[in-house]
Amino acid sequence: MSKQPILVFDFDGVIVDGLIEYWSSSRKACLKLVGDEKYEKQLPLRAPDAFQKVRPWVKNGWEMVLLAAELLRTDSPIKHPAQFSNEYQNNCYKALKFWGWHPEQLQIALDNVRKQAIHANKEKWLESHHPFSGVVKRIQQLNNEKIEWAVLTTKSTEFTSQLLSYYKLSPTLLYGYERGSKPEVLLQISKEYLIQGFIEDRRATLETVLNTPSISWIPCYLATWGYLKDTDDQDLPIGIQLLKPKDFMYPVADWP
Ligand SMILES: [Mg+2]
Repeated sequence: MSKQPILVFDFDGVIVDGLIEYWSSSRKACLKLVGDEKYEKQLPLRAPDAFQKVRPWVKNGWEMVLLAAELLRTDSPIKHPAQFSNEYQNNCYKALKFWGWHPEQLQIALDNVRKQAIHANKEKWLESHHPFSGVVKRIQQLNNEKIEWAVLTTKSTEFTSQLLSYYKLSPTLLYGYERGSKPEVLLQISKEYLIQGFIEDRRATLETVLNTPSISWIPCYLATWGYLKDTDDQDLPIGIQLLKPKDFMYPVADWP
């Protein structure tokens, strides 16, 4: 029996713009971790410029808690976002060492802040995310093309699922960070489905897919409406196509 076709979507930066919520939750999680009220005034309620500039480099949610903490530190390299991004991983590693933190505790702190926000006012939390215009509608139309779709995200399954149901979206499959790395999950999905495309706004993740022999055949699409670095849309390797909003509106068979 032939495999059912499926499209796999990243969530943050493809379906939803969660930057405002990410900042607000990361800020709160960071303040909990540093545990000193005097810091509160040092972190603005609105997402600072440096945070927004570094966002395209972020791979995992917990990194944003770390970025918030770095904004507290007067001599942190994040004061120069371009330089910070140039050596993003190394700077994150050094920042973890400076604060004496582990990624797991940052992720737990972030998830706890979200749990509390949902408990306090679920509607308000849901509304702090902004779905990209037209994307929700377009995904709902996939049914007419007899294409199933999945969500693969580094957010937790629980929070993603709440947002998806709020937008009346019900993917066949949903994998949060708990299920392992994106390449691992893609390989797993490909055993049961024919992956027609993986739509993601983080070019480095698509390049990893391309460089992983067992899944390198998956058609990769870089969503231009997400958190892209300035040069991300240039000199793309064969195997990664740019997906502009207007392409995305076409039937999948007509995508680049
Ligand atoms: Mg993304």
